[in-house]
Amino acid sequence: MEEPFSFSDNLGPLKVIYVYEPSVSLKGVLVVDNVAAGPSIGGLRMAPDVSAQECFRLARAMTYKNAAAGLPHGGGKSVLFADPKSIGDEHKQQLVRAFACALAGEDHYIFGPDMGTDEVCMAWVKDEIGRALGLPRELGGIPLDEIGATGLGLACAAEVAAEFCDLEIKGARVVVQGFGAVGKHVARILGERGAILVGASDTSGTVCDPSGIDINALIAHKDSGSSLSQWKGAQVLPLDATLDIECEIWIPAARPDVIDEANVKRLHTRLVIQGANIPVTHGAERRLHERSVLNIPDFIANAGGVICAAMEYQGASEAAAMQAIEEKVRRNTREVLTRARDEQLLPREAALNLATSRIEAAMRTRRWSLF
Ligand code: NAD
Repeated sequence: MEEPFSFSDNLGPLKVIYVYEPSVSLKGVLVVDNVAAGPSIGGLRMAPDVSAQECFRLARAMTYKNAAAGLPHGGGKSVLFADPKSIGDEHKQQLVRAFACALAGEDHYIFGPDMGTDEVCMAWVKDEIGRALGLPRELGGIPLDEIGATGLGLACAAEVAAEFCDLEIKGARVVVQGFGAVGKHVARILGERGAILVGASDTSGTVCDPSGIDINALIAHKDSGSSLSQWKGAQVLPLDATLDIECEIWIPAARPDVIDEANVKRLHTRLVIQGANIPVTHGAERRLHERSVLNIPDFIANAGGVICAAMEYQGASEAAAMQAIEEKVRRNTREVLTRARDEQLLPREAALNLATSRIEAAMRTRRWSLF
């Protein structure tokens, strides 16, 4: 077990709770990082290889993301130590329900879906303790992957960022690494706004056409269950070929750490919009900055999903959620890029300063901060 308080600092975590119930092989951890702005939100992750420290890092990332998005929520995260692929539906349901019950009194934390859990898991949590977001539509949920909440936010971030690097979205060439829930929708929305998709990848490989890919046809192909390497409408290249395709906007929407100091020189783009979480290492972000490639950090650009989930929790309509994503991501991207330009900072430094100043301002209003 990690040393208690080994990862605490001025922002948190407020609580770390270990849950252990051997009769159902339940082992879980909840980290409530910071609740100055309101009850924390952050997903329930189910995976065999997580740790309390990782849970804390994920909770802190949610504190920053929610503060940067201007939501009335702090950051939290919970993890269940189990392999969702091998335990079977019945045991999965038992674990999720038992974990929710064990944390029923922790109303500083609102469950949401994450890796290894989904909207059905959230329906079980809601059934047990009445407190969950990312619910099925029948329970008032807004299906954020289906409607493209995160993709919409990324497209808005790209539009604002384009102004800061003298770029027109109309006619801009776009490459999307990871043509999944996030990648498909950002390609579709940027396409509707005049951009041209010249490259896209999934785990099977990369498709590339410098004259432009038919985005709706590619989405229909992918939705039919086929992989991109089976696409006949463009040249098929190896998996990592997305890095070499010349474009104006490059969007990582697959995995963490895909761009590092060794491969960053392969990117030929003017703008990077981070769809995945931590897809670019800090060293690579610095290299991009030195090459005048504008880079919009993950927790600013990909906040559409959490904004949508927070709106769902408030009982908002789908249309209101989409409008909130547009407004918040545009405003935050503009604020971060203005600060970065005026204060000579990397966009990530400006984004962290923005988030931290909002968290500290909220903390100053809390009773315990007076002592
Ligand atoms: P997804 O599973 O729907 O799609 C991921 C896609 O990436 C798949 O098509 C997969 O084949 C592809 N992929 C995986 N590894 C790859 C690789 N090495 N090279 C190229 N393609 C690869 O997932 P998603 O919901 O679209 O999420 C994508 C990323 O964005 C994840 O890192 C996720 O944590 C992050 N994210 C998602 C949301 C959201 O709203 N879904 C919000 C914020 C951040």
